[in-house]
Amino acid sequence: MTDKPIDFRSDTVTKPNKAMRQFMLTANVGDDVFGDDPTVNELQRIGAEMFGMEAGLYCSSGTQTNQIAINVHTQPGDEVICHEEAHIYRYEGGGIAKNSGASVRFIRGNQGRINPDEIVDNINPDDQHYPVTALVSIEDTANRGGGLCYDFEDIKRISHICKDNNLAFHLDGARVFNALEVNGISPLEYGRQFDSISICLSKGLGAPVGSLLLGTKDFITKAHRVRKAFGGGMRQAGIIAAGGIYALQNNVARLRIDHENAKRVETILASKNWVKEVLPVQTNIVVAILADGIKEGDVVTQLHEKGILCVGFGKGRVRFTTHLDVSAEDIDHLAASLPGDL
Ligand SMILES: *Cc1c(COP(=O)(O)O)cnc(C)c1O
Repeated sequence: MTDKPIDFRSDTVTKPNKAMRQFMLTANVGDDVFGDDPTVNELQRIGAEMFGMEAGLYCSSGTQTNQIAINVHTQPGDEVICHEEAHIYRYEGGGIAKNSGASVRFIRGNQGRINPDEIVDNINPDDQHYPVTALVSIEDTANRGGGLCYDFEDIKRISHICKDNNLAFHLDGARVFNALEVNGISPLEYGRQFDSISICLSKGLGAPVGSLLLGTKDFITKAHRVRKAFGGGMRQAGIIAAGGIYALQNNVARLRIDHENAKRVETILASKNWVKEVLPVQTNIVVAILADGIKEGDVVTQLHEKGILCVGFGKGRVRFTTHLDVSAEDIDHLAASLPGDL
């Protein structure tokens, strides 16, 4: 085993580098619950401006930004339309039911993404039997879809459908900058399609903590209230928010490198006898479907012994994620150390 394993488990494992830490160290701070933290305010302003939104709210996690958005957009008993493998449903501790008392309508979709036509078919009629359809939420990039991006035309169509049917449209944009790097859409044009956007600063962008929720002034005022009730009000949060500012200013353009590295991981994995198939790679996530009879847990353990960390991703699947703490040399090392057979 090498001294320091190469960590492909998630793009959340990045650590702030010296320059980011220096920037954080010198941040001006205040009590953010009073609205007094200049660095938090600056981060919220920068994020909102980038996407052409009126206002932003800095929160402790992407789960929190998503759950606050759902809470503001719905009433108890309302229905949220999302992909059946959406993070908001699968990986947020049952928060939709627990925090908001809302129900969920699943869309099967295509590798984590929803087809606009499927939404139309799943909006409930105005009839007392049915829950009120209130919100559509999509993920771009789609985590369970192996980091695939939406076609922007589909997003525009979903946005139209939501407007026509008086539904709110939320983006779980944990990796939205990865999507924008690939499809070349400007954040401003993209932002116009949504009522609310959640962005993770602590994934590929490399900040240690936090996510941003963006929307109209009215939406963010309500979101403030919900964040407080969820126990998410923070005090001198400028220390960590500074990491977010640094990340937005320095680590967006370089996502291209993560995507190139992921393409190389795809090629390497595809050449192994223990891999049946690699899902199409567009961004920084690589999902390998293992050959028949090979267990994901065994692959994770065996690669760990060789200094390579990855995660199981459901039955017979493993996931590799590239990020700013994985270099081109690390990919060379991966190529050299992965066995052809297991
Ligand atoms: C990581 C992630 C989130 C937010 O996760 P936190 O760990 O709560 O920050 C939300 N949606 C998707 C698709 C994610 O991958």
